[in-house]
Amino acid sequence: MALKKFEYWFIVGSQDLYGEETLKKVAEHSGIMAGEFNEDPLIPGTVVLKPTAKSPQGIRALFEEANADENCAGVITWMHTFSPSKMWIHGLALNRKPLLHLHTQFNRDIPWASIDMDFMNLNQSAHGDREHGYIHARMRLPRKVVAGFWQDSELRRKIGVWMRAAAAKLDGMNSVVLRLGDNMREVAVTEGDKVEAQIKMGWQVNTWGVGELAARYAAVSGERAEKLAAEYADSYDFAPALAQNKGAMAAVLEQAKIEIVLKEMLDDEEAGAFTTTFQDLHGLPQLPGLASQRIMEQGYGFGAEGDWKQAMLTRAAKIMAQGLAGGVSFMEDYTYHFEPGREAALGAHMLEICPSIAAARPRIEVHPLGIGGKGDPARMVFDAQPGPAVLATLVDLGSRFRMIVNEIETIKIEEAMPKLPVARALWRPHPSLSLAAEAWILAGGTHHSVYSSALGAEYFRDWAEMCGIEFVLIDRDTRPERLRDELRWGEAYWG
Ligand code: MN
Repeated sequence: MALKKFEYWFIVGSQDLYGEETLKKVAEHSGIMAGEFNEDPLIPGTVVLKPTAKSPQGIRALFEEANADENCAGVITWMHTFSPSKMWIHGLALNRKPLLHLHTQFNRDIPWASIDMDFMNLNQSAHGDREHGYIHARMRLPRKVVAGFWQDSELRRKIGVWMRAAAAKLDGMNSVVLRLGDNMREVAVTEGDKVEAQIKMGWQVNTWGVGELAARYAAVSGERAEKLAAEYADSYDFAPALAQNKGAMAAVLEQAKIEIVLKEMLDDEEAGAFTTTFQDLHGLPQLPGLASQRIMEQGYGFGAEGDWKQAMLTRAAKIMAQGLAGGVSFMEDYTYHFEPGREAALGAHMLEICPSIAAARPRIEVHPLGIGGKGDPARMVFDAQPGPAVLATLVDLGSRFRMIVNEIETIKIEEAMPKLPVARALWRPHPSLSLAAEAWILAGGTHHSVYSSALGAEYFRDWAEMCGIEFVLIDRDTRPERLRDELRWGEAYWG
């Protein structure tokens, strides 16, 4: 899943007016920039420099090629000189790739002693990119504008964020959500328009019978399960009770078998994410707990109770977070701590939290599950690593999708919770527990979300822009009464 396999076409604009000498310099400078970008770890994808864009036919051909290229995840444009924007209209009108408008210039400093009109004509991004930005604005194109000196690390970080979002967008168009069973009965917020999801996000959301998984489960050998369970000992602790209790160890082996067949089925269907539901487990001995955690840890998206929107969003976040410190997990708001001055929310799920967010080595435990009427599932138990994180969710408002992101601070869990047998995270949302909850609920946010300690809100904002969906941020500056107005303005825009 290395992000270097995703290519970002660097299209530098100019025109024939300036003559050969200037165009040679433009190509030379662009080549130096692309080379340096590709050496910098802040730039996760591969920058591919294209021939300088200088005519309407050439520009249109470049965008047609970009559309047809399956490795091209996005297009970066920059105007080294002036490049009249009517030349760009046909190309931009048919562009289907995420767009980043880079506004920079090759030289950092003005060469005070030697500057002349030749230098000015060569290095005129300051007005060339304004002409270019105008046509994007006029055509209402979704895009990210990044301005600054091209060697500056903050500028490169912003490009990197956008590249990761674009990689997630392309991945979403090439992978499937494998739904095992339908959404939980009577639940509204996990529902959604799967056709619209494919149109906007590229996601192919399809169903497979849980019986197919159960048939594969029945056929897998005990030997394979034991081999996999032996691998668990490398990465996780086993609860002491597992050594004494043969039944509990059998539950771990059942989860190992589920992991093996679920992974096979995901790979056979080229699926990047999956959902389960405790209401439809025919032929399986337990709800996939440890198995779901393990598969999430391997980079797949997951949604419980049939929540395919958060499953695919978890997958998108996993793609964006590759190689970054921190993790990504499916999450659920569970219960609150309202002690004055120490307010916090406790997030968890029945079983399925990804160990990529763990503060320490997870422990495998087996406990009964209050609902579902199946065997006692094995699961990993741990606390989430403290630090800044975000919660992101997607809701279907009937006429459109809305993404909601809340910036939070995950805190250390000071009290032991010996009777709580699930992985958990404790956080303080910004701007405060009560204001964040008011804002989230006003916006229609779900109890399910994607939790990430690896990604900030900017990643999700860039991704939402590429998908053409509404983005609502809840951060330190959010005031619910203002947000109410913002949501109403959004009704007019997205209407
Ligand atoms: Mn749930």
